Amino acid sequence: MPSSVRSSLDPALTGASAPVPVGAPPAARQGDTPRRLSVQEALACARETQRLEIGPGAIAHVPAVFAAQFPQRTAVVIADRNTWAIAGARVHAALGAAGIAVHESFIFDDPALYAEFGYVERLLAFLQPRDVIPVAVGSGTINDLVKLAAGRLTRPYLAVATAASMDGYTAFGASITFQGAKQTFDCPAPQAVVADTEVLRTAPREMTAAGYADLQAKITAGADWIVADALAVEPIDWRAWDIVQGGLAVALADPAGAREGKTEAIAPLTEGLMLGGFAMQWTKSSRPASGAEHQFSHLWDMEHHVHGDAAPAHGFKVGIATLAITSLYEYLLRQPIESLDVAACAERWPEPAAMEEQVRRLFATSDFLATALTETRAKHPSRAALRSQLELLQRNWPGLRRRLQAQLVPFGELKSRLRAVGAPAEPEEIGISRARLRDSFVRALHIRRRFTVLDFAARTGLLEPALRSLFGPGGMWAVHA
Ligand SMILES: [Zn+2]
Repeated sequence: MPSSVRSSLDPALTGASAPVPVGAPPAARQGDTPRRLSVQEALACARETQRLEIGPGAIAHVPAVFAAQFPQRTAVVIADRNTWAIAGARVHAALGAAGIAVHESFIFDDPALYAEFGYVERLLAFLQPRDVIPVAVGSGTINDLVKLAAGRLTRPYLAVATAASMDGYTAFGASITFQGAKQTFDCPAPQAVVADTEVLRTAPREMTAAGYADLQAKITAGADWIVADALAVEPIDWRAWDIVQGGLAVALADPAGAREGKTEAIAPLTEGLMLGGFAMQWTKSSRPASGAEHQFSHLWDMEHHVHGDAAPAHGFKVGIATLAITSLYEYLLRQPIESLDVAACAERWPEPAAMEEQVRRLFATSDFLATALTETRAKHPSRAALRSQLELLQRNWPGLRRRLQAQLVPFGELKSRLRAVGAPAEPEEIGISRARLRDSFVRALHIRRRFTVLDFAARTGLLEPALRSLFGPGGMWAVHA
């Protein structure tokens, strides 16, 4: 039976869903150990998504979900040729058979379809004059195209997932290429999502592998939030923490099973991917699901990175970046932070003008220098502010180190999981050389104001020594002889 969940509770109004006060001291939690929430509890925190169905045969529930969410409205299936064959035709027929008014489907027949704004415009031209509710049948591309088109028309929509390939189904915002550059457009998450594990388990293996790698990234995303919390930059919202971290270990437990399409592995993986979006809806920020590892992926997108003739899957980029960030954490955890020379760090810290000069040099040939400057300025502390932050770091280090050790999964374990699920585990497999991976640590730091382990490393003066060690002889990223 699909786990059927429905909620219209406003989390702000119900005691049961009230968040633990933001910034509650970790002691009150006895550490960061998350509480595993039921899907119902997580869904109650979603501000936009009202209903989620995951399970074998869940597609049969699309008509009931549609009728409950959009009474008296006309449905239209949006798909591409592939997803139409996999599930779209069935969804269209089921809606009609249930007596729901169904418009003729809109099927993208371009074999090179991708999340590009021109396709959103085509969809807008179709949807605007018609009083219909889109039913997006597909994975990342179809969902993002429909999400943005529906958002532009302030129209709700229903998503039917065809692959456990990324965590964007329930996220607000659509990742769309506009004028050659990938951008995140602001638009609401789907009002309802149906994920039939019988469909997901037969999706191409590399799609499931990408979804697994995207979920594994929540480990380092969580570590970054712990650092930001300990340094009083961005306190952890414990409700969002529980939503993302609570079931994470279970959802990642069987990479080989996920690769083989075992329902017992696909179902928790899918649930984990969906919950990440709910946590983002709750905090109105991507912080719960995205840290420095996602900044690497964003950076490579902004640099228009392609491997072969296409951009690698989001999850594959994030998977490699999760390894990279974990290697940096493991280096930092070996350092005697408690005896850090704070005064020397503050003295070495560049004044704003010098930092700007550095950013201008780094991004001189890019088309996003302005973004890098804005984002770097937004988080660049004065020497005095840096000094007090590093003093706080020193005072909190024993506790922070313990929290990070409990959160992180060893580099070797992460890597073997990527191998087991069939995802790339070496940067070259996604077309990133080691030299470029090394540069990405520095460049990723500057493209987003979010405080991550990259800021921790830069502000303590440990980023360059870490890169020398990690990429040097005997390091985790040493160039093979
Ligand atoms: Zn992601």
